Amino acid sequence: MLTATVAEKLPIGRGDERRLTQVLLNLAGNAVKFTETGAIDILADAVDGHFEITVRDTGPGIASKDQALIFEEFQQVDSSSTKQKGGTGLGLAISKRIVEMHGGTIEVESVLGSGSAFRLKIPMRVEESAEAA
Ligand code: ADP
Repeated sequence: MLTATVAEKLPIGRGDERRLTQVLLNLAGNAVKFTETGAIDILADAVDGHFEITVRDTGPGIASKDQALIFEEFQQVDSSSTKQKGGTGLGLAISKRIVEMHGGTIEVESVLGSGSAFRLKIPMRVEESAEAA
């Protein structure tokens, strides 16, 4: 089951819509690909001047030693069942780059065997006045 919970009255952000959509599709796509049973939840909120988006799954999880590695190009976790699912090992590296281009961060929280949560934080860009430039 997939759920999406979007906070009410979120402000309109500025950013590269096409690339940010790519990031979300990558995270949601991974969650669907790796989760055999259980649920995937997508949460979107605005917290302290940031947009916060979390994609949470009940899949195989990622060992702490692998959590930093998966954001590097061509890295796939060897030991778990995830490698046999195919893929390029590029999605998270590209996602990280796109999020950082927006001044944001991406991080994973996971316990092996009990799922993963990928969280993006993207600062809300304030419209600058023409005079200020
Ligand atoms: P790909 O999915 O094409 O292999 P990614 O860069 O998106 O490449 O992911 C890298 C690796 O991180 C995956 O191969 C997998 O081992 C691990 N991974 C990513 N997302 C998840 C997830 N939701 N649950 C478990 N492992 C994951």
